[in-house]
Amino acid sequence: MYLEKLNPQQRMAVEHGTLTDGSHIAGPLLVIAGAGSGKTNTLAHRVAHLIVKGADPRRILLMTFSRRAAAEMARRVERICRDVLGSKTGVMADALTWSGTFHGIGARLLREYAQQIGLDADFTIHDREDSADLINLIRHDLGFSKTESRFPAKGTCLAIYSRAVNSETALDQVLRDAFPWCAAWEKQLRELFACYVEAKQAQNVLDYDDLLLYWAQMVGESVIAEDIGSRFDHVLVDEYQDTNRLQASILMALKPQGQGLTVVGDDAQSIYSFRAATVRNILDFPAAFSPPADIVTLDRNYRSTQPILTAANAVIDLASERFTKNLWTERQSSERPRLVTVRDETDQARYVAEKVLDHREEGLKLKQQAVLFRASHHSGPLEVELTRRNIPFVKFGGLKFLDSAHVKDMLAALRFAQNPRDRVAGFRLMQILPGVGPSTAQKALDLMSEDASPLSALAAMPAPPRSGEDWTAFVSMLQEMKSGKAGWPAEIELARQWYAPHLERLHEDAATRQADLLQLEQIAGGYASRERFLTELTLDPPDATSDQAGVPLLDEDYLILSTIHSAKGQEWTRVFMLNVVDGCIPSDLAVGATAEIEEERRLLYVAMTRARDGLDLVVPQRFFTYGQNAQGDRHVYASRSRFIPATLLQFFEACSWPQVKSDAAAQAQARQVRIDVGARMRGMWR
Ligand code: ATP
Ligand code: MG
Repeated sequence: MYLEKLNPQQRMAVEHGTLTDGSHIAGPLLVIAGAGSGKTNTLAHRVAHLIVKGADPRRILLMTFSRRAAAEMARRVERICRDVLGSKTGVMADALTWSGTFHGIGARLLREYAQQIGLDADFTIHDREDSADLINLIRHDLGFSKTESRFPAKGTCLAIYSRAVNSETALDQVLRDAFPWCAAWEKQLRELFACYVEAKQAQNVLDYDDLLLYWAQMVGESVIAEDIGSRFDHVLVDEYQDTNRLQASILMALKPQGQGLTVVGDDAQSIYSFRAATVRNILDFPAAFSPPADIVTLDRNYRSTQPILTAANAVIDLASERFTKNLWTERQSSERPRLVTVRDETDQARYVAEKVLDHREEGLKLKQQAVLFRASHHSGPLEVELTRRNIPFVKFGGLKFLDSAHVKDMLAALRFAQNPRDRVAGFRLMQILPGVGPSTAQKALDLMSEDASPLSALAAMPAPPRSGEDWTAFVSMLQEMKSGKAGWPAEIELARQWYAPHLERLHEDAATRQADLLQLEQIAGGYASRERFLTELTLDPPDATSDQAGVPLLDEDYLILSTIHSAKGQEWTRVFMLNVVDGCIPSDLAVGATAEIEEERRLLYVAMTRARDGLDLVVPQRFFTYGQNAQGDRHVYASRSRFIPATLLQFFEACSWPQVKSDAAAQAQARQVRIDVGARMRGMWR
């Protein structure tokens, strides 16, 4: 029986409020516990238990951090249900239709309630890059980029806007707290944001933040809140420590008394404050209700061996604030986590590649091993090394397949067909055509925006002088797509055919890019409609694959490379953590405020607690930086991360690699040092 596999506290959380009668809807529940204590597992069991006890899966709302996590959860729920109730539940667990991310669920609800809230249901969603592009267009229109030569860059403007919206904080305070160097532009930023909001509305686009903001506004209307709230008997949220205030207020609006509400999280793993997530949400949850929410804590870790757990606990013990207590485990092992010193990032890459292959020879699949890093670009040298050795890998986080120019072009075509008022998409597309520059595109878009039927307005326009046939082909592609005659996903072929000659013209490596587009078509085939595809893709892109390593098939074995942020909630038998040095973790971007340093510490804790049996923290003595230091040198001499002070060394096995240096290598190193010293000396006189 599935309940018997759980420990008493887990079982308490699973059965909370369902002991007497399955149909009874329980009061609010918080499960707060450390990494690997079975929170996610408990949540999956709770959902399954509710279904087994008769809850209607279509009336369960389950929100997780990523779509991948939601899919994994649905699988687990289905497995448990099938074991208990036999095959007929296959159908039932499939009916767990309301599971996904906050943003994804928000997008669905907004489309459904569009009419009631004065929104056009055909809205398209801008990802961060599109949003930054739109801000940039407006920045130029307002003339800020010209007259104010040091006006914040588009990315910074977007970050400020996003922070203010997500934390529900006034602009002046956001500037004071987080962007003091931009405070002088408060007036201009206010104007920029006002225009940005207007532009989004005129173009019928929503950015990521809007999905939450509109959702929060929508349920601020009590009639709608009740309507949506009453559709769900149970609302469950995983990784609650990384939600922001808007998300909390949405939950409270849906379930003001907390009936049927379960949230799960770990304050020691709160790592998204840069997106305005706040650990207060989880800490304040119990008292938000009266009577207060029940709290279940879990203290047994099932994931890691005792030595790994001891080391991770030691790192997080130095944190200034923490609610969850240290964990214990029964998994004994004589293998301690390793702290491996290597010369530089090249050696680090070699070390990891060799160890990974060693483990594979011992029978461990590549998929059961992962390499984690603080910033996406840290994996560069490793990606090269893996490619050289033909070790397949997949990368999570950072630059994605979907961010490449040709894929974005195709997606823009689909988006523009869906919503011809989407200026960022239109602006991008038109400039693909030969002879069309920014001003021609702007003019065409202006004419379109003034017309009730933008596509007809486009068709009625004379083609720009040097782009006759290309222009006509472009317009008819859009019209054909909009008509919906080809159907989904066949219509994507229309866009690809239209795009093919341009691809040839614009890119030397057109053949590989064509292959990407074919892959995109395949991915698209898995979605029910254009609208669904665009929404999900923008919100939670499928996993990035490295183009150097080719695209591994699903059943193929591959190594996982991931930023720590994207590794949340997951586990691997063996974990390597790159660049455990000051400047990387804590990131030198964070050096300053205590709160930021504390978040970096939690990041290292998250990384370490992903490991089941083996953990290697690698410390290169030099690493490459993107900026130059005062001496014009791009290499920086690194010291071990401050999160592992000498007092903690006892929890690790310290070693260096390669163990024995050949004379030649030692000489090369000595030469290298002389060169660096020279660069420093010269730099003094620059
Ligand atoms: P994180 O904080 O990293 O998200 P978590 O608390 O959500 O971790 P899970 O991922 O749910 O933890 O569980 C960690 C591991 O422990 C999983 O492999 C899970 O199957 C296992 N596990 C959880 N509970 C039990 C149990 N009662 N018996 C055996 N294994 C368990
Ligand atoms: Mg979890």
